[in-house]
Amino acid sequence: MAKQKIKVYEQRQFDLPEMACFRVTRNCNARCRFCLAPPEGEQPDEYVLKQRIDWLLQHNVKTIHFCGGEPTLHPALAELLMYVHGRGGKNRLTTNGIAMPDNLLSALHATATEVKVSLHGDQDHHNAIVGVTSFKHTTHNIKRLISTGVKTSIQSTIVAGHTWVIDWLTDYCIEAGVRRLSILPFIPRGNGKDCPEYVFSALQRRQLREQVKQTRHKYSGRLDVRWLDFSAQPIHVVEADGSLILEAATESMDVTLCHIPDKTTDQPRSNACQQKSAQVHGRMR
Ligand code: SF4
Repeated sequence: MAKQKIKVYEQRQFDLPEMACFRVTRNCNARCRFCLAPPEGEQPDEYVLKQRIDWLLQHNVKTIHFCGGEPTLHPALAELLMYVHGRGGKNRLTTNGIAMPDNLLSALHATATEVKVSLHGDQDHHNAIVGVTSFKHTTHNIKRLISTGVKTSIQSTIVAGHTWVIDWLTDYCIEAGVRRLSILPFIPRGNGKDCPEYVFSALQRRQLREQVKQTRHKYSGRLDVRWLDFSAQPIHVVEADGSLILEAATESMDVTLCHIPDKTTDQPRSNACQQKSAQVHGRMR
């Protein structure tokens, strides 16, 4: 009875969005210079991650957006997708597409997971941007995802001096049968703070946005071209160490809301989390 009361109280007080980014690992098989969440080795086990998923689903989150690091490196990812699906949640996955084991492909299909693959341009540019020779693996796995029937889109980080890749990417998407392309203008957080040559001036940024707008019109009905600016609005992220963070344009603007309790009945820590979240949401509205 006491446990039921706690749950009712939590559901009333906590105010999370319907989707949260869920970092299952901070390992990665690429070395992108603009990485927002650079590899640092943290990788919780399956049991801990399932507890965090339970907690999120109990706090209004409906879609678990698996991200990293590189989430496909976590050996339990397929199992975690099935776990969310079995509890009535939805999954999304953002991946660099370098590794795509068969069991993961099957789980993605079985759980109707939407997959976003990072592809940054032609072979030379993509490999230079991600810091490893991976273009062939990534494009091969995009084909495997599509032929398996997994809903697949592409996202691309655009850096200053390389806006030409938008034309290359649209051609690639049309040819490969991809129906959505998300364009991410470079933002200088994470490793990107050390990449001054990638930074857009205000004018260049406006021009890029206009280019994306024109591309969207040009391909309307054939390709859904989107502008996805991570600096526009903070997003809820569960870090690999269990912290729930409102991630903003720069690290100094991030707000740590709480650490997800190790057990869903950990009432005192959960309450602290609720109060902080309510304050932050109050400020943002
Ligand atoms: S941006 Fe993604 S793929 Fe690139 S190093 Fe960071 S986590 Fe890995």
